[in-house]
Amino acid sequence: MSEPTNKTITIDGREIPFEEGQTIMDAALAADIYIPHLCHRPGLSPHGSCKLCTVEVNGRSASACTLPASSGQEISNNTDALNEVRKTITQMLFVEGNHFCPSCEKTGNCTLQAVAYHLDMLDGHFPQFYPRREVDASHPGIMLDRDRCILCELCVRASREVDGKDVFAITGRGTDARLIVNSESGKLVDTNITTDDLAAHICPVGAILIKEEGYEVPIGRRTFDLHMVGEPGLEPVIL
Ligand code: SF4
Ligand code: SF4
Repeated sequence: MSEPTNKTITIDGREIPFEEGQTIMDAALAADIYIPHLCHRPGLSPHGSCKLCTVEVNGRSASACTLPASSGQEISNNTDALNEVRKTITQMLFVEGNHFCPSCEKTGNCTLQAVAYHLDMLDGHFPQFYPRREVDASHPGIMLDRDRCILCELCVRASREVDGKDVFAITGRGTDARLIVNSESGKLVDTNITTDDLAAHICPVGAILIKEEGYEVPIGRRTFDLHMVGEPGLEPVIL
């Protein structure tokens, strides 16, 4: 059990404790304060790539998932200005991929969709990219639909850090960035991934799906049909 701490930070005027080694995100999650995020999951190394968790710390922008908490930090999180930037980032994520929620198996369980609702996103705002991306249905138990991939690298880190494998990687930069599978054929069937792996379940969107489980939970009874993202007790959302 950790030692009690008298070190504190302040988020949106609320003083909360933190322990040495915690990031601002760790401290916020422990205090049931929601800082929007997509590429972070407790237990995996912080990545700082989605930028949704950008907060202002003593007036300067910083990623809450990578910045260590430190005594005296005055943090702004749930402000109109920050949420407007988060909405723009979320809109970009929608138009960069191919997201058609009504026909997606992940709808209602999708963190990207839930974050969009949380931020009152009503449309994609930007022109759709309609990228051509490869679907990999080669594995008997796991489907990879890159159309919905937001390049959060959660599957990359889960495979490497928890499953002890190295099934996924990101290659390329900017709009050329894409998720690849580390096998000679580049197909999932030629890797040692199994449906028991965390990497098979951690995808926050509908890019990695377990086969033959589709619609087992009817739409209307899924996690975000019943709860708002960030509600206490919903972290980590692994479905
Ligand atoms: Fe919608 Fe999420 Fe599916 Fe994308 S992955 S189509 S945001 S439900
Ligand atoms: Fe993230 Fe899913 Fe893409 Fe992996 S497949 S990088 S978990 S969105």
